[in-house]
Amino acid sequence: MSRPADNLERVRTRIIEAAHAAGRPPDGIRLVAVSKTRPADDIAAAAEAGQRDFGENYLQEALPKIEALRGRDLTWHFIGPIQSNKTRDIAAAFDWVHSVDRFKIARRLSDQRPDDLPPLEVCLQVNIDDQASKSGVAPADALELARAVAGFPRLRLRGLMAIPAPSEDPAAQRAPFAALRRLRDELNAAGLSLDTLSMGMTGDLEAAVAEGATIVRVGTAVFGERPAA
Ligand SMILES: *Cc1c(COP(=O)(O)O)cnc(C)c1O
Repeated sequence: MSRPADNLERVRTRIIEAAHAAGRPPDGIRLVAVSKTRPADDIAAAAEAGQRDFGENYLQEALPKIEALRGRDLTWHFIGPIQSNKTRDIAAAFDWVHSVDRFKIARRLSDQRPDDLPPLEVCLQVNIDDQASKSGVAPADALELARAVAGFPRLRLRGLMAIPAPSEDPAAQRAPFAALRRLRDELNAAGLSLDTLSMGMTGDLEAAVAEGATIVRVGTAVFGERPAA
C-alpha cells in the first residue's frame, strides 16, 4: 500500500474506535482530508485510496489543484479565512464552506453561487473558546447569523465549525467541543435544523467524536507533517 493509503486506513481506524467508544455509528462521521500545502499528486493518491472529501485553506493554492483533479468526483471543502474579494471564486469552486463568520460574506457567497450548481453547503465558524486572535462568530451572536444564513436562497446552512486552541489534555480538548455541541442544540431548539458539527483535527479527533463531531478535518495524520511555512 502507498503511504496515503496506509495513513488513511489508520485515520479511519481512529475514527471507528472513537465512535465505538462514544456509542455512535462510525458512518455518521465524515473524514475531510485537509490537503493544504500538498500537491495535487498527493490528493490523487488519497483519492485512489477511496478518499472523497478534501479541505483547503487558501483559495489561490486550491484552485489549480481543483482544476487538475476535475472529473474525479471529489468534494471540496473551504476551511480557511474568507476575504470578501475571494467569495466569487470560492462560491464557484467549492461544495462546502466551513468558515462563514459574518453576514456580508454569507450574502456574497449566496449571490455569487452559480445557478447551475446546487446550493453551497455552509457551516458557521464559531469562536467557541473566545480566542482574541481567532476568526469566528461569537457564540452570543451565532443565532442571529444562523437565521440570516438559513434565509439565503443559494446557501444551505448545515451546522457549526470550530478550531479550539490546541491542548494535549483530553478533558481540556473536550470542553470546547461540548460547548459547540450545546450551541448547536440551542440553535436547533430555536427553530434551526443543523445536522453538522465540523470539529476535530489530527491531535484531537477522538475528543471531537466523543462530543458529537459529524465531520473531522484531518491533515497531518493523512498526509504527514506539513513543511514549516
Ligand atoms: C490545517 C487545518 C486542519 C488540519 O490540521 P491537522 O492538525 O494537520 O490535522 C483542520 N482544520 C483547519 C481549519 C485547518 O486549517
